Amino acid sequence: MKRRRLTFLLIHPEISRTRYNFVGVIENECLELEYISAMLKKEGHAVILYDGQVEPFGAGTAIQKTEPDVVYVCGRARQENFMLEYCANAKECGAITIIGGLHAQLCYERMYRPCVDFIVTTFDIYKILDIVAYAVYHEKAAAEQFAGVCYQKEGVWHYQAGEPFDIRRLPLPDRSYFNAFPHRYQYLELAHAAWVRTAYGCPYRCAFCHRNRMNMGQLSLRDIEDVVREIAQIDTENIYIVDDDFLFDTERLGRFVDAVRQQGIRKRYICYGRADFIAKNPEMMRKLKEIGLYYVLVGLEAIEDSYLARYEKRSDVHNNVQCVSVCNELGIHMMGMFIVDLSFRAKDFRALYHWIVEHQVRHVALSVFTPELCTPVYEQYRDRIITDNPSHFDYLHLVARPAYMGVRSFYFHYYILLIRLFLKAKREGVYDFIDYGDYIRSFVANMFRGMRKNDDM
Ligand code: SF4
Repeated sequence: MKRRRLTFLLIHPEISRTRYNFVGVIENECLELEYISAMLKKEGHAVILYDGQVEPFGAGTAIQKTEPDVVYVCGRARQENFMLEYCANAKECGAITIIGGLHAQLCYERMYRPCVDFIVTTFDIYKILDIVAYAVYHEKAAAEQFAGVCYQKEGVWHYQAGEPFDIRRLPLPDRSYFNAFPHRYQYLELAHAAWVRTAYGCPYRCAFCHRNRMNMGQLSLRDIEDVVREIAQIDTENIYIVDDDFLFDTERLGRFVDAVRQQGIRKRYICYGRADFIAKNPEMMRKLKEIGLYYVLVGLEAIEDSYLARYEKRSDVHNNVQCVSVCNELGIHMMGMFIVDLSFRAKDFRALYHWIVEHQVRHVALSVFTPELCTPVYEQYRDRIITDNPSHFDYLHLVARPAYMGVRSFYFHYYILLIRLFLKAKREGVYDFIDYGDYIRSFVANMFRGMRKNDDM
């Protein structure tokens, strides 16, 4: 049977419909969709990409305008409602609907809905071609082709676990959409930051983290020289290496530094790294700074060893202190990421602020402890869960009852801490490009809105 050319609409939903959507502050390039776009175009299909972060019209309009044969939607837990809404829109227009992305890897059963035809639960983008061969061209599918894909047959959902994906099979991403928005996709003050991925998975197993469960828990690495060749071709100054942990192998990093130097690449880099690595490898951090490392995002998580032990972080507060000191001495902007734990008492919120001041952490990100959906941690907290709205699983909301204070009291102290950190950042001239007043006013409003009902952020 002759295969007809299909039109695919690939959708990255908006992050949130509230003011906390980070538009204009942090906007993420749709890298996973760009891999898919490259693969589909190579097969001769027409591809339209829609990113709810940057488009001026809704995804529903995009579906109506483009009349696609296939709609593919990806996203995270907080975007689940949007993903399902777009599948319902697409179904009304007669399209085949596929859901993929990080959330689908662990929570595929939550999306067993009539408006969803297929769910891809692996990083293996080539499953989309298998789905199309089966659903559009009516070719017989071998069982292994559908490993890692959920599908319905006679009204019953079927699923067979997939295999870990070898990242080296990915094509180079089709960045035409990213390039069409030269004034978007920033990371804080770094304009037009292109995402680059060098690995799937993480070698660590922190207890609270669901990232290490992706790719069936397997780490898959690209050849670092291949990564550098890709970076050399990207027409932007800022490169956001989005691996869960880029800084873990000194030999691989050494080859990265050498290759960047040899090719004379001059760019600024953002990446994730661990405090213990940074504390123990100041010389490597110096080399990375020399080739352009600008932001390193570090999960410091806590200021007490008891919390780090409970999180199975395999690091300690001494490393956190050393890490901040190494980055500050080298002039690397370190984004210290902390968990606001459900066991916090009022004094813990205050202690966290004082630790941040004492150790001169200039860039800070707070996450409310979140038992991730569809993980063993969620099951541990099941009887304390206070919301079933997936959009609340955004690390800004409380999704489980705190241990030692009421929900309102917890939010009160959380917002006081946020306001103090914003005022500190304003005094120090950090994030001068954002409207502090707007954020602080909204935190204060939330605080006085009866410490919120958990539904208006
Ligand atoms: S190092 Fe980071 S990405 Fe890896 S398991 Fe721990 S928190 Fe998750």
